[in-house]
Amino acid sequence: MADYRIAVIAGDGIGPEVMDEALKVLCEAEQEEGFSLEVQAFPWNSEYYLEHGRMMPEDGLDTLQTFDAILFGAIGDARVPDEVTIWELIMPIRKGFRQYVNFRPVKSLPGIPSPLANGEDIDFVIFRENAEGEYSDSGGRLYAGQEGEIAIQNTIMTRTGVERITRAACRYAEEHGLGKVTSATKSNAVIHANKLWDEHVRRIVEEEFGGLQFEQYYVDALAAYFVQRPQSFDVVLASNLFGDILSDLGSGLVGGLGLSPSGNINPEKDYPSMFEPVHGSAPDIAGQGIANPIAQIWSAALMLEHLGEKRAAGRIVKAIEDVLAEGKVKTRDIGGTATTREMGSAIGEAFKNQTTKATEG
Ligand code: NAD
Ligand code: MN
Repeated sequence: MADYRIAVIAGDGIGPEVMDEALKVLCEAEQEEGFSLEVQAFPWNSEYYLEHGRMMPEDGLDTLQTFDAILFGAIGDARVPDEVTIWELIMPIRKGFRQYVNFRPVKSLPGIPSPLANGEDIDFVIFRENAEGEYSDSGGRLYAGQEGEIAIQNTIMTRTGVERITRAACRYAEEHGLGKVTSATKSNAVIHANKLWDEHVRRIVEEEFGGLQFEQYYVDALAAYFVQRPQSFDVVLASNLFGDILSDLGSGLVGGLGLSPSGNINPEKDYPSMFEPVHGSAPDIAGQGIANPIAQIWSAALMLEHLGEKRAAGRIVKAIEDVLAEGKVKTRDIGGTATTREMGSAIGEAFKNQTTKATEG
């Protein structure tokens, strides 16, 4: 029986509330699907920072490195600057563990209306480059306080970085029977980095993934196509900045933050990957027990898929869809009155009912 060690960092605000529900559903999955999870929780959040002056212990990454995967909730607290929570906890994990793929599914869910008139049957995934690109710490500000003040931000793209994210996206397409990869660029604007991106993306697809259909759009046009014909995409491949923007647009097309999961993935599996909802700590609703746990539960399913437990992962997503299709249990963000716990329990029940039905039939 496969045995996985999972590090859990629930974080701040609604993080611990939605994490409890994800762990509940994982527990069901474990019992029914014949693998076991050894879960260890780490209290590394803003409270921890206020007490210890740091977001995690000095050897935090060494500790995490011994796990098979990390399930993350959300962080953010008014008493601690966002730079601290992000740069001292999330970024060291992403960078230290070479999680260079940010993976975000964009999928229509039953009973969740899209703001688009043509918003049905949307189902694609975004591979956002997660380690370099436009979000670099190269650059700076000069002449502060003077009229001539300037800021310089360098985009850093490496051939290695572009090749590996392209391979990850194409492999995913092949493994999941998806025919087409769409690359976002802006090379019409004479941006050197995007020319390098275009050249190496195209070369890798042509040389190594000849069976895939490939297309490339300027990111501004692609944003419009997301709205006009979102059904026409399978795998969207984008740099750090473009992928960030496109994936929030994608989330908006299919129902919003309470429903959007993500994975920070190290495809080589030489370090653990980290799975987390797209949303933050939602201080406006924290402590009330009304947050939607679906993004967190779905993130746990992405984690199982990454670990190779594909059937369990598929069943969790199906359980989420079953509950939403029935429409009886809905949290406030999707137009209902259910609590976080009620939603988590409903998904756990739906998960169990799948086996009952399978055995009966
Ligand atoms: P947010 O995602 O926390 O909240 C935005 C809005 O969406 C709020 O109105 C919130 O109530 C709602 N919302 C979010 N998740 C929800 C859920 N599961 N169910 C129902 N409603 C939900 O973003 P924000 O308000 O901009 O940021 C709050 C804090 O979170 C900040 O400190 C920010 O830095 C941090 N943050 C952290 C992460 C992360 O941990 N990776 C990501 C984004 C923001
Ligand atoms: Mn974003």
